[in-house]
Amino acid sequence: MKLKLGIVLLFMYTGAFANDLQYVRVQLEWKYQFEFAGFIAAKELGYYREVGLDVDLVEYEPAVDNILSLIQGDADYVVHNSNLVVHGGHIAPVVVLATYFQRSPLIFVTHPSIRTPGDLVGKRIMGTTDEFRYSSLALLLNHFYVNSTNSDVREHTFSIDDFIQGKVDAMSAFRSNQLYELDRLGVSYNVIDPADYGFVSSAVSVLATQNAVVQNPEQPQRFVEATNRGWQYALDNVDEVINMILQRYSQQKSAEALRYEAAVSEQMMQLDLFPLGATSDELGQRIFKQLKRSGLLHADEQYKQYTLDTLLAKLGQEMQLSPSQRQYVLDKGELTACIQGDNLPLEAFQSQAYVGIVAELLQAAFRRDVPVPLRVHPVASGESWQEALSLGRCDFVSMAVANGKDKNFFYSREYLQQPLLLATSIDTLFVSDLHRLSQRTIGTVNDEPILERLRATYPELKFVPQDDSRDALTAVANGELFGYIDESSVIANQIQKTYSDSLKIGATLGQGIGFAMAVAQGNNELLEILDGVAARISSDELAIQRAYNNWVSLRNETAFDYTLFWQIFAGVAVAGAFLFINNLRLRRLSHQLLTMSITDSLTGVGNRARADQLLRSAHRDLKKGAPGCGLILCDIDHFKTINDTHGHQVGDVILKEFAATLLSAMRSDAEICRWGGEEFLILIRETDEHGLQVLADRLRTCIAETTFSAGLKVTASFGFGMQNPNISIDRNITNIDDALYQAKNSGRNCAVAADIH
Ligand code: GH3
Ligand code: MG
Ligand code: MG
Repeated sequence: MKLKLGIVLLFMYTGAFANDLQYVRVQLEWKYQFEFAGFIAAKELGYYREVGLDVDLVEYEPAVDNILSLIQGDADYVVHNSNLVVHGGHIAPVVVLATYFQRSPLIFVTHPSIRTPGDLVGKRIMGTTDEFRYSSLALLLNHFYVNSTNSDVREHTFSIDDFIQGKVDAMSAFRSNQLYELDRLGVSYNVIDPADYGFVSSAVSVLATQNAVVQNPEQPQRFVEATNRGWQYALDNVDEVINMILQRYSQQKSAEALRYEAAVSEQMMQLDLFPLGATSDELGQRIFKQLKRSGLLHADEQYKQYTLDTLLAKLGQEMQLSPSQRQYVLDKGELTACIQGDNLPLEAFQSQAYVGIVAELLQAAFRRDVPVPLRVHPVASGESWQEALSLGRCDFVSMAVANGKDKNFFYSREYLQQPLLLATSIDTLFVSDLHRLSQRTIGTVNDEPILERLRATYPELKFVPQDDSRDALTAVANGELFGYIDESSVIANQIQKTYSDSLKIGATLGQGIGFAMAVAQGNNELLEILDGVAARISSDELAIQRAYNNWVSLRNETAFDYTLFWQIFAGVAVAGAFLFINNLRLRRLSHQLLTMSITDSLTGVGNRARADQLLRSAHRDLKKGAPGCGLILCDIDHFKTINDTHGHQVGDVILKEFAATLLSAMRSDAEICRWGGEEFLILIRETDEHGLQVLADRLRTCIAETTFSAGLKVTASFGFGMQNPNISIDRNITNIDDALYQAKNSGRNCAVAADIH
């Protein structure tokens, strides 16, 4: 009886011990073979258990997308054949933890008559979709102009018989695998290795997601340590590990084939040059540049992949979150910011996106420093941020002006400075001393802290708070108010958009206001975190400058001398951001005016901001009785295929030509804007239902009949309808979007009228 109990207890103990191990799933890149000897040895010899890990090595399955499994959390680690991981056209948010093959065994095996990459033109080449897209083989083909247009590029059958029987002229292969078979069968062949042409890649790299590493940086280190030990053992005891593979994992390969593989693998590891498992950020960057230059990656794509070292260095240097702060945000899972109304160019919520200068700065800072997503909650009109925050609709407010008196809220330090400007009628003299305006009525933004400061500085002036900046400026234009004071971005934006003929900057009010983030009283933990984020934003002048450049741009202005405006604006408004502009440059720029950026840089037509502006003014004019205004939304058909087949650079050229073709087929007063990606909005005033239908048909035909670059034919689908002033602009767009959707569903290359309701 006693003995039995002892056994039971022992069982329970080992059971408990097993439970203490962390279960880890590792997705391999291929079938069990010597390529994974280090992992297999580490598991079989108990190295993983010694570091607290219960490791499952999962063999490759054709239907499984390894990188997707990693990103979705189906696997904790994956083994991958490159130092740069591209997924869905973008750099995947992964970390390269270790690299075991410093040189990739991935090559082309070709018919002996094919000696150089150039000889592949016109030949039948077999490989996997991913190899043709992003691998060193893709780079090689691209460099030598071998592509699906001039050659027969086809999907891999993984049968070397297709090569042996001459059904294909070349195929992708692993030096360590297929060459053994070909040699054994006495088949003659030639090898083309991308590395010989400068397209160096590595293989057998261990990846984890950035998120996983950030949350638990120490587990990947233990995993790599144990794997390194496994590899060392496998290299020192090749035959023993081959037996392990044959007996416990797979007999797909013979012992001899595995020995051949082991010898080639050792060459690929280049242990005379690299420490075992060494990662190189440089190699990843190099492949990134090569992919970008060849157009295989989108031109906007930024290098943002890390090795364990670079990520840990970044965490140490930049993440100023203490362990408890990190735990706090991780427990919350996400942080939500309340944003108020339309404050462009500072911030707004448009088409489900948080946009503007502040939006860009906050989003970048959070992505960099805070390991959970940032969400936004637009405060309902009629509700204040104070109410929204008190009611718990968000964790903090993105853009608040600190108020020393209100004890219900805590403010972070200020992350962005904005001066106040006075807008006056265009024929008013520049106001050099505001104190002289005591007889005048001056409108101000209705914001307590700002009003307080103004009243303290100019006790003799009469300030009248205004609820709506646009109404206030109209009052200034009509002479009902002498001037209106608001933040520089609001004034600059409004003057440019609506009042360029009637208003100007009449004065600058030295002291600026600073924007901070606000949290509910007592939320000290979050306040400290936001304080750190704010400090980092305000110290990164370059990022501030970039954000301004995206939303505020230069326009030539000859009718009016804006020297003063510029000096004020450049000297004060964008404090810090534009400080690098010296006086000389200032003078040269004196005839330019800051405006909202309204053109799309790729196609040269209006951008989304321009579209919004046009829609708003047309809507307003219709309400006042202007003649009908037609809207057309068009979307290029199967554009993704163009990118996938010909690369993003060609895609970009087609987009430009597409916009130019639309322009050439329209009345000169019609406006065209890039609505997003490969979608364009056309706005045409003084038309009717019939005229609009005719135009949509003409545009459709014109596109279909045009031959674009590289001899490509393109079609597009159209949705169109007259703008209805009695429903919202959003509702109008939705109706037209529905029509476009119907056009897509009816087989594309057609135009469908919207149901206006
Ligand atoms: P559909 O006929 O249903 O519209 O198919 P589609 O492939 O055109 O539609 P989808 O919306 O799936 O894909 C749009 C593609 O447009 C995806 C994206 O990569 C590409 N795209 C968006 N903006 C750009 C750009 O600026 N340059 C390039 N080259 N491609 C872009
Ligand atoms: Mg499309
Ligand atoms: Mg689209």
